Amino acid sequence: MPGDYTRCPFSIGLFLSSAALVTYLTRLDKPKSKPSSVVLPDCQVVFVVGGPGAGKGTQCTLLEERLPGGWKHLSAGDLLRAERQSGGELGDIINKKIANGELVPSSITVKLLENAMNAAYHQNQTTNFLIDGFPRSFENMDAWKEAMQRHTIKFMLNFECPEEVLVGRLLERGQSSGRSDDNIEVIRKRFHTHQQESLPVIERCAKQGV
Ligand code: UDP
Ligand code: MG
Repeated sequence: MPGDYTRCPFSIGLFLSSAALVTYLTRLDKPKSKPSSVVLPDCQVVFVVGGPGAGKGTQCTLLEERLPGGWKHLSAGDLLRAERQSGGELGDIINKKIANGELVPSSITVKLLENAMNAAYHQNQTTNFLIDGFPRSFENMDAWKEAMQRHTIKFMLNFECPEEVLVGRLLERGQSSGRSDDNIEVIRKRFHTHQQESLPVIERCAKQGV
């Protein structure tokens, strides 16, 4: 019957999740600090990628300290973990994706990166960014290109490390990290996501000379 689909629980669920995502992204669009008329100029970006536990964050911290020219380290994972603390329905989505070793919707991750770049620029006039743990899929890359095309991707730095070494590191880190995804079950899922979704992007970038 016409109109019956409106009562389908799946449609209602889909509608509610879409509405939540739109509300959330609208909220992310609003700057948390006082508005500034200074617009973020075109920036230089280095994507730092590699399997879970490859040492992306550790190396970025060292690079941030040692590279001349003022490079700011932004970890996509840390930004997501910080954002989920703010609670709400979308906080739940981020939580579930991370706890399942899956990727958070690209629109959220790219918006958080954009906000963090804006904040760093307004604080220290930083225009050089080491972006750690992003992009992890073709969808991530497309979302980046759509919103952030004007920034120059200088290159992608890929850390490779044997899987058994990574598992050992992550399990050790799990003893003190308090992260919901540093346990063997989720570690396996994270490797699967890395192989299925992230490696093809890294391979394509390598072919394109990025
Ligand atoms: N994540 C994501 N998109 C990103 C970065 C991270 O969805 O661009 C999520 C994903 O669930 C990932 C988790 O955040 O497994 C942790 O990412 P992080 O880079 O902090 O950890 P690692 O690479 O060390 O596993
Ligand atoms: Mg990390």
